[in-house]
Amino acid sequence: MDISKEHDSSTHLRKSLFEIKTNGGANACVVCKHPETELSCDGKGCNRSYHLSCLDPPLQNYPGAWLCIFCIKKKIEIGVHSISEGIDSIWNFKEELQNGKHYFVKYNGLAHIHNQWISETLMLQEAPTLLSKFKRKYYKERAIRWKQEWTEPHRLLLKRLLMPQKLADGLFNGLANSFPKCYHEWFVKWKGLGYEDATWELETSPVLCTPEAMTLMKDYEARIEAKTAFDSSKAEKVVYDME
Ligand SMILES: [Zn+2]
Ligand SMILES: [Zn+2]
Repeated sequence: MDISKEHDSSTHLRKSLFEIKTNGGANACVVCKHPETELSCDGKGCNRSYHLSCLDPPLQNYPGAWLCIFCIKKKIEIGVHSISEGIDSIWNFKEELQNGKHYFVKYNGLAHIHNQWISETLMLQEAPTLLSKFKRKYYKERAIRWKQEWTEPHRLLLKRLLMPQKLADGLFNGLANSFPKCYHEWFVKWKGLGYEDATWELETSPVLCTPEAMTLMKDYEARIEAKTAFDSSKAEKVVYDME
């Protein structure tokens, strides 16, 4: 096992604890209606706020962009782009005789795996400033640095239950079997990118259903098992020391 990477990962996750947005009680918690919430939803136009302890299942900390249960449902039913605040950056450009100019864009809060090619017309509507900036830079430097490996999982950092199982079953039964059942989400670190670019992906995402991803899941379970064994051996020692 690569100890240094393991250390990096836990340092980053600990750091994230302090980065959790505290909105100073601007919004009341959706569950208990009290102020001073610790978490607000990153879903597009949502702003629902929660206490970590009011969530089901409750959370102790939360790295990465967080979505409330309403936005999780939206993400499952409509797709990840429905919860993004929009285009974040442009990574490639192509021009075809029939289809005209298209741009390869990354979306706010979403991994590179969710990038899309979109037309210049749509670009002009959604992100005109970004487009003119890209054009100036592209024509000057002609440098595209986008890498395919950014869409390949490198390591699975955390696993979480999306919502209580009963609720999930209700949701999927209501969707008339048109969606594969999905109970968990994985916090994915991508190849060639840092821990700050890790994102939460549904366990049914095609990128997590490959043999490579299965190996990463086994690695994750083995790390958790090793950690649990280590923690319980420490606990036994403490008990022993106290006798
Ligand atoms: Zn609350
Ligand atoms: Zn939300």
